[in-house]
Amino acid sequence: MKRVVIVGGGTSGWMCAAALARVSPPQTHITLIESDDIGIIGVGEATIPLLAEFNQFLGIDEHEMLRACSGTFKLGIEFIDWYKKAERYFHPFGFFGKDTPDIPFHQLWLKLNKLARDGVISKDIASDICDYNLCTRAAKLGRFAQPQGGANTIMSTMRHAYHFDSSAYGKLLRRYAEQKQVMRIEGKVVDVCQDRISGNIHSVVLESGQEIEGDLFIDCSGFRALLIAEHLKSEFIDWSKYLPCDRAIAIQTTSYSNPPAYTRAYAQKAGWRWEIPLQNRTGNGYVYSSAHLSQDAALNSLMGSIQTTPLHEPRHLKFRTGHRQTFWQNNCVAIGLAGGFIEPLESTSIHLVQVGIQHLTKWWPANGDSGAEKTRYNQAMAAEYQDIRDFIVLHYSATSRNDSAFWRHVRDMPIPQTLKEKIEFFQSSGQIFTKPDALFTPHSWIAVMLGQGIQPAHYDELVDRIPQKALVSNLHGLRESIRRTAESMTTHQHYLITHCTPCKSAS
Ligand SMILES: Cc1cc2nc3c(=O)[nH]c(=O)nc-3n(C[C@H](O)[C@H](O)[C@H](O)COP(=O)(O)OP(=O)(O)OC[C@H]3O[C@@H](n4cnc5c(N)ncnc54)[C@H](O)[C@@H]3O)c2cc1C
Repeated sequence: MKRVVIVGGGTSGWMCAAALARVSPPQTHITLIESDDIGIIGVGEATIPLLAEFNQFLGIDEHEMLRACSGTFKLGIEFIDWYKKAERYFHPFGFFGKDTPDIPFHQLWLKLNKLARDGVISKDIASDICDYNLCTRAAKLGRFAQPQGGANTIMSTMRHAYHFDSSAYGKLLRRYAEQKQVMRIEGKVVDVCQDRISGNIHSVVLESGQEIEGDLFIDCSGFRALLIAEHLKSEFIDWSKYLPCDRAIAIQTTSYSNPPAYTRAYAQKAGWRWEIPLQNRTGNGYVYSSAHLSQDAALNSLMGSIQTTPLHEPRHLKFRTGHRQTFWQNNCVAIGLAGGFIEPLESTSIHLVQVGIQHLTKWWPANGDSGAEKTRYNQAMAAEYQDIRDFIVLHYSATSRNDSAFWRHVRDMPIPQTLKEKIEFFQSSGQIFTKPDALFTPHSWIAVMLGQGIQPAHYDELVDRIPQKALVSNLHGLRESIRRTAESMTTHQHYLITHCTPCKSAS
């Protein structure tokens, strides 16, 4: 396969171009087409930790990337008013406590918690499970550090992602890809030529009349899904019955002088509001269900809640949650918004782009339309989307809110069987099962299950092998070590000024 054509130059298009330029054989010719008239979606400021691996794979230095993209660090997400009004919890990156060889840490904590509920030990000793997570402790104190030390050290449990300007990230990747001989063409695709028998795409035609032929086409055209939907007619699997939010309003405002190292997600009357702190601005938005709230009401609510000064007019966006039945059809692979979308509550879209690229390079076909690779790719991507969907639905369905039609709807709606089983299992035994390569580890599920008020009936009885006194004192010692470690870190602000601000790069 010699000619790869990428249609679309948003974050997903340039991530594909950079990664394929890095791994493809020298004879592969990569062309990226983007239209300045159409532009990019221009939202997507929060990420998850695996993006660091993508940058490392490309050889992009983390500090350099954050300087170029006005980025900050992200240690997790704070969820406010989700389970009930006036309650909040943190979904951190990194681990809770320390597992023993036989028993996961949270089982120890569940026993401690039961002892506190039964009045056997003081409630202060049990405390929140997040007190045993270094990322949460650091985030709450406004501190930051890189993970370091051996596997058994507390500092090795730090994990981080980024808040960044994704348009600037796209520009950084464009420079990278162009240096590796990716050819960029500016222009609008107005026609697609397909083989009459196989249906394979032979070429795309631009408004200028230029025709670009290819062996493999990557559809990164965003929600338009120009190739995969308009021409190859891949069906859309619609998940709005599980995730009813279908609109967003986004607005950037001035920055906080001391940006927190975490995202805030505030539950609202008919959806939720994000607050994402960058170095030079704050990203804000309201994701809502148009069946439950009008655009004007959503706008008023958003504008009434933001605490910094708007930098532009608000932008209104429409979306549908779900994915293409076949991400890879004929000789075309849809990556990014063209392939599917799950609302941004856990910042998973850019990650899904990364996974799409990883699977494509793993099953790189000898020609664009290769049956076995396509089947595996489509199955793997559908599984990724489904796991993420279940995790997002959990945030809505496990609520005790009933103060608006929206919250009553999501509390009572049927949920996917796969999620139902996970919740029931956790409720009965405190155990979480995930696939070994699942994006959200048991730690993430535990954070959100407990945060959303799901309490297991029992802890694992293996914990009873540990004498109660030793359990209480070991957990107390661990909690104090985590507290002291977080307090010993530099501030997030100081770290950014020292390593990640543009003036530092100039000096
Ligand atoms: C409200 C909201 C919030 C989000 N927040 C996050 C977040 O916090 N974290 C996260 O990971 N993701 C988030 N996302 C998703 C994120 O924005 C996208 O995954 C990411 O920007 C990639 O988009 P894309 O490149 O697939 O599409 P786009 O950015 O839309 O790019 C499409 C490209 O295709 C080109 N194009 C289209 N039609 C043609 C044509 N006919 N001819 C030539 N070129 C064409 C356009 O010019 C453009 O270059 C969010 C999305 C929404 C809607």
